[in-house]
Amino acid sequence: MEIRVLDILHQTMADGPGFRTAIYCAGCAHHCKGCHNPQSWNFGGGHKMDVEDLLAIVKADSLSDVTFSGGDPFYQVDAFTELARRIKEETDKTIWCWTGFTLEEIQADPHLAQLLPWLDVLVDGPFILEQRDTTLLFRGSPNQRIIYLKGQPDCDDIPGTVPLVPLR
Ligand code: SF4
Repeated sequence: MEIRVLDILHQTMADGPGFRTAIYCAGCAHHCKGCHNPQSWNFGGGHKMDVEDLLAIVKADSLSDVTFSGGDPFYQVDAFTELARRIKEETDKTIWCWTGFTLEEIQADPHLAQLLPWLDVLVDGPFILEQRDTTLLFRGSPNQRIIYLKGQPDCDDIPGTVPLVPLR
């Protein structure tokens, strides 16, 4: 299974707490006004990488946790589910995932929802330019939520966090 990847950042501290391997995927149809990265919208952008190779990159860095971003990983949900499942089964790394969908939209679609059980944190919702707030941590506008999908957070509480959202 393959993922169209735009970029991979190693030991970044900008995409969630601590050091993280951040996988930026190609393709996003949300087209938020003021998007920080409109060149990521192209579903044919970047290059294809095998899930197995991405897993090896993630595992090679014993220090870093993992971030999925884009683009929107939920447009390649089958392959990201496979990658996330392997990461969670074979490492103790946490996974943060950014998406332009809301949690409720994802939960309402079984195809999209297949990724949720393998994620630790979902940062959800579209960027709303009119509500832009540069003081927010890890988000561009306050409608976007940092949602812990599993038990205790892996870091200190972050304003805007919605803890313990039950999965269906
Ligand atoms: S969801 Fe993210 S990548 Fe997609 S248009 Fe909105 S801000 Fe840009």
